[in-house]
Amino acid sequence: MIIVFAAGAPAEQIDHVIEKVEAHGLRTHVSRGETKTIVGCIGDERALANVGLRAMPGVEDVIPIQRPYKLASREFVDGRTVVRVGSVEIGGAGIAVVAGPCSVENLETLMDVAHAVRRGGADVLRGGAFKPRTSPYSFRGLGEPALEMLALARERTGLPVVTEVMDPRQVEQVSRFADMLQVGARNMQNFDLLGEVGQSELPVLLKRGLSARIKELLLAAEYVMSSGNMNVVLCERGIRTFETVTRNTLDISAVPVLKLETHLPVIVDPSHAAGRRDIIPDLAAAAIAVGADGVMVEVHPHPDEALSDGEQALSYEEFDRMVARLSDIAQVVGREVPVERFDST
Ligand code: PEP
Ligand code: MN
Repeated sequence: MIIVFAAGAPAEQIDHVIEKVEAHGLRTHVSRGETKTIVGCIGDERALANVGLRAMPGVEDVIPIQRPYKLASREFVDGRTVVRVGSVEIGGAGIAVVAGPCSVENLETLMDVAHAVRRGGADVLRGGAFKPRTSPYSFRGLGEPALEMLALARERTGLPVVTEVMDPRQVEQVSRFADMLQVGARNMQNFDLLGEVGQSELPVLLKRGLSARIKELLLAAEYVMSSGNMNVVLCERGIRTFETVTRNTLDISAVPVLKLETHLPVIVDPSHAAGRRDIIPDLAAAAIAVGADGVMVEVHPHPDEALSDGEQALSYEEFDRMVARLSDIAQVVGREVPVERFDST
């Protein structure tokens, strides 16, 4: 349930209600909006049945949340959640561009891509150190040396870094190097992993499972949030359908639906959705046009030689052109575009 306070309710009244709720064994989450404060209550609401919250000073309304996801639901927060990754905001006024190689292959290539995407307008560097691969014989990532390379790339470029964590036992290790923890599509319902990243201080990028419904994605986010971490960014990355011209089918309607259902930021990964580089800029453009808070794309200096997902990697030129186009669309849909986005030097 959420407790909505009257505009301008004094802090003492809000604190008093929070104390009452917590005294009955529930946890609270406070969201201070521009005009109103909302307190979400997490736990067994039956304990509050006789507390008379509605009559307490400062309380305007008490609303049950009917949806199976509570903390992730739109009602729970007044406004939208902005997730900070290093100094970058995802879900704020601007759009965020996350870019980099599918896998970290070696230091030289990573540095080259990192500098190239930064010049092209990326806000966050991506790169896999631990790779979930369909075949055990494919390149599965360099592990900790790759994490060290990512940290070095951050140092040299100033870009914060997001990288995948596949196992609860890796969370501590990855957290020593990364600015954001990525939970991949194949692990969206790895509930132990969700609980573990939920206890991390770092923001989480949660990718939609290959055959996950939107409700299941939101419930996966709920696992992270109910473990204590409210900084979750959702990522639509295509779902498996009968269609084979693309690797997956980008579910573009997921973006506006998620925007209606949740206060969490939503980004789109057109690379894994398409599996082919020729349509990635178009899909990215569509994502921004329907309200996504950003995109995540794979970029490689020599896509044909990439150790993983080369067929869906953009060249530097393609990336630069895509970002310029996204900036134009972002402006049209009322998002702020930083001035340096237009500076490709
Ligand atoms: C990735 O982004 O590196 C990745 C493996 O994507 P997904 O989990 O969406 O397949
Ligand atoms: Mn990939």
